[in-house]
Amino acid sequence: MPFFPGSLYSRGVAVQNEFSGWVYPVPIWKGREPKISDGWGSPRPGIEMGHRGVDIMYPRHEGEPKHAPYGSARHVMFPNVPALAACDGIVEKSYEGKYGHAVVLNHGKWFTYYTHMANRLVQKGDKVRAGQALGTISGSPTESGKGLKHLHFEMWLNGKKAVDPERYIKKWPKVTMDGDRIGIVPFIPFIALGIIVAILA
Ligand SMILES: [Zn+2]
Repeated sequence: MPFFPGSLYSRGVAVQNEFSGWVYPVPIWKGREPKISDGWGSPRPGIEMGHRGVDIMYPRHEGEPKHAPYGSARHVMFPNVPALAACDGIVEKSYEGKYGHAVVLNHGKWFTYYTHMANRLVQKGDKVRAGQALGTISGSPTESGKGLKHLHFEMWLNGKKAVDPERYIKKWPKVTMDGDRIGIVPFIPFIALGIIVAILA
């Protein structure tokens, strides 16, 4: 296909390249695909422009919790689901604020903001990789009024101007995680140490 400067085609290519290496900030969890449960601009008390980001949860299946903190009429959030770094970057901020634990990542042109977490696994200045866990998704003390568990995710152009993330994130690949599977791998160092101690004793 020929290259036309300024055409839709060339702009499409530019967008694709800009976000290569980015991943969806919530994993596929036990086979369940995350999705946006509340989008940009939804009414928020005290914020004239409304919701400044997207909320991410999982579609609710029959019989799953319908009430906060784990579910609503259409969406659920499972325990221990991590928020994931959307791209390689540096931790600009890591703090506990009025919306729960929060992390801001600096990716250069773009910053990403993650909040409503129960804890944080990274500190200011840390280098993070795309898909790295930043903290455990929790409920908001204020948003939705009832502390419904969900990730609140924002994208800031040039570090400050919040833009609607939906059109970007829906193209990013998702990381697959299985909340049940721990496996033997994390215990190998301890098993090895046990064998060494047994031999030396
Ligand atoms: Zn939100």
